[in-house]
Amino acid sequence: MSAANHQLFSDASQRLEKVFSYVDLPEDALEYLKFPKASLSVSIPVRMDDGSLKVFPGYRVRYDDTRGPGKGGIRYHPDVTLDEVQTLAFWMTFKCAALNLPFGGAKGGITVNPKALSRMELERLSRGYIDAIAGFIGPDVDIPAPDVYTNPMIMGWMMDQYSIQQRRISWAVVTGKPLAIGGSVGRDTATGSGAYFVIEAMQEKLGLNPAQTTVAVQGFGNAGAVVADLLAAAGYRVVAVSDSKGGIYAPKGLDIPSVRQQKDATRGIQAVYCQGTVCNLVEHETISNEDLLTLDVDILIPAALENQITEQNASQVQARYIFEVANGPVSSTADPILEQNGVMVFPDILVNAGGVTVSYFEWVQNRSGLYWSEPEVEQQLRQRMVKETAQIWEIAQTREISLRTAAYVHAMTRLGAAITAKGTRDYYVNHRAEAS
Ligand code: NAD
Repeated sequence: MSAANHQLFSDASQRLEKVFSYVDLPEDALEYLKFPKASLSVSIPVRMDDGSLKVFPGYRVRYDDTRGPGKGGIRYHPDVTLDEVQTLAFWMTFKCAALNLPFGGAKGGITVNPKALSRMELERLSRGYIDAIAGFIGPDVDIPAPDVYTNPMIMGWMMDQYSIQQRRISWAVVTGKPLAIGGSVGRDTATGSGAYFVIEAMQEKLGLNPAQTTVAVQGFGNAGAVVADLLAAAGYRVVAVSDSKGGIYAPKGLDIPSVRQQKDATRGIQAVYCQGTVCNLVEHETISNEDLLTLDVDILIPAALENQITEQNASQVQARYIFEVANGPVSSTADPILEQNGVMVFPDILVNAGGVTVSYFEWVQNRSGLYWSEPEVEQQLRQRMVKETAQIWEIAQTREISLRTAAYVHAMTRLGAAITAKGTRDYYVNHRAEAS
């Protein structure tokens, strides 16, 4: 485990201790939430196309299930470690509670560069992962979903493999599946849509005039591209976007639908304005991911990976607002620097919760057998995002704390209620006193 990754979990749990001072809960709740409930490390042997055998490390962590079965995505990335998965599972615990979903927190991952595998190798790896963790997951136990570099096709293979093992169709074991095999409409765009609903809900309070509000998005993937698209459609000026290969910047604003079209066609965004039929007259320059983060914009949306804004670059951030679409893009050491500089951070456990919320809708639909229309999904998602955003904003305002702390206080209050419902030190000590 690398030192950097070990840092991730201690970073996350330090935030928890800070939050605890704002919530009136017994010590038991903190003690309970300091540790993951269960962690599984597996080795997945895969027969490669050239006949060789490769073994990939995989993980699944169920951090907490006091409020319901574990819920969380599966990440395929060369940097995946148990510590990273554990931290992501920790965040999922708070995210599900912040949105009042009847789930605990979980996460999974495989240490692999999926871009280096053929599609058949990817399928064997995904089915092998399920073979290895099948006893650890289930529709009432722990329900995986997509995350970085996993997609509906992979979720479909996973549901299928689990069903083969159980000798019955088990739609509700995995969410984020293709529509034809138990997926929900709106799941593919849910994270970006949810983030957009948070910004939309805050528009008036923050006094944002879309036409005069500039936006930069780091990570033009599943989540980032959708939020960029929705903001551009609402009249916001999206001036910069990037992916792992680099970014583009146009102060007058980018034509986001063209960028998406080009990215889908070429798997790159660099050449968007000077190649093919979407060649556009918008003047632009290329920009590195590091420089995108410190652009003079109103809204910065990190939507790639964690730890992008740290104590090294936080003081250079010029944006007024950060909406964390990625999980953990701002380190705990960057938080106070941003706060001091007046940068308001809308935290990941609220902003990117649209994905798990529609995953919840998918799970509900799978279990009831009754499927919702797109407007129904959108309306239910918007309602939840707006309601919880307003409540977190209110906590931050009345207690004069950051939005991140407020979101954790909000989640912690719900988690604490569930933990204390099973009995606390006070309950047992008083009970003994009464009996004697
Ligand atoms: P994705 O794989 O679809 O997209 C990730 C994007 O980030 C890609 O465009 C990739 O090129 C880019 N990227 C990778 N490294 C980068 C770097 N160093 N700088 C800039 N860009 C880089 O993944 P996604 O599903 O969109 O997830 C992105 C983030 O959102 C992750 O932190 C993930 O945990 C979080 N998230 C996703 C969902 C979801 O439903 N997809 C839900 C909640 C949170």
